[in-house]
Amino acid sequence: MKLFYAPFTLKFKHPFGVSSNTRKETTSIFIKLESEGVFGYGEACLPAYLGETAENTTSFFEKAKPLLHEIKSDFEMEEVLVLLDNLQKGSNAAKAAIDIALHDLKGKIESKCIAELYGLERPVPRSTSFTIGIDKEDVLAQKIKEASDFSILKIKAGTEDDKKLIELIRKYTDKPLYVDVNQGWKDKHFVVDMIGWMQSKNVLLIEQPMPVQMNREMAWVTERSSLPTMADESVKRLSDLEKLEGTFSGVNIKLMKSTGISEAIKMIKYCKEQKLLVLLGCMAESSCATGAMAQLLNLADHVDLDAPLLYKNDPFKQLNYTRGELILSDGPGTGVEPDTEVLKFP
Ligand code: MG
Repeated sequence: MKLFYAPFTLKFKHPFGVSSNTRKETTSIFIKLESEGVFGYGEACLPAYLGETAENTTSFFEKAKPLLHEIKSDFEMEEVLVLLDNLQKGSNAAKAAIDIALHDLKGKIESKCIAELYGLERPVPRSTSFTIGIDKEDVLAQKIKEASDFSILKIKAGTEDDKKLIELIRKYTDKPLYVDVNQGWKDKHFVVDMIGWMQSKNVLLIEQPMPVQMNREMAWVTERSSLPTMADESVKRLSDLEKLEGTFSGVNIKLMKSTGISEAIKMIKYCKEQKLLVLLGCMAESSCATGAMAQLLNLADHVDLDAPLLYKNDPFKQLNYTRGELILSDGPGTGVEPDTEVLKFP
């Protein structure tokens, strides 16, 4: 099969702030795999803080080209993914892009959606949380208003004064919240107190409250926490998850971290065995990668798949959000297709 790639700048409707930075746009590199006239599409989303650049992502694709060239349309998914993974360490987003495109392609060849490729039921519509970035009061109020369809809001905390931020949100809505601290809290006693306070404000879970390096303190917090604690930055792949026994109550699984769908499914299976909560999440992706992850909706305890709504120029179609629910098309593979007017491959 042949691999083509195209870098694309996704533009945010509102500048997007988390505790470490604010962005107006973000880059994804889209790929197209072609095998005997059938096309599969994938996406590598590259937020700067992950250290995966357009250069090292495209160089991974170049490295993968000769290997993919040898692969026929009746390929064994796991075999190909192991070969790709062994090409080099890291490049998780680049690997995810190829994994997604391979699944899309296989689904199209077999006329099945990705869920069905794994013997799962077709995903049913499901509520997703909607993320509100850090901002000034008038902009926050506007964003909350725009999110009126969504039953759960996700708040990016880790600010100077997070109680003030939550009190501010509570002036405009009493909806349940997910709070993502993005490693912003450093003192374990403070964290336990904050979580107790957050619970009294109708917060449902706390994501990555402490820095990745503080996993021992994090385990101490989880033992005493009145809310589920979810790992995000602390867990990329299955091997990270296996090392973190007892550190968190659950994990935010994202395709760009896990290297794609195949490993995400293994992580979900591990979570179910270990009684860990599964939150299906996404980076700042378009409908391409989000649509792929949405194929696993039926396996989630919590869903945070709203990224495509943050953009004014999503180049993929057919992933719908209606009254706060994520609704998949009945198409094969990922169920999404590129808008060929907007996204051009060489
Ligand atoms: Mg997070």
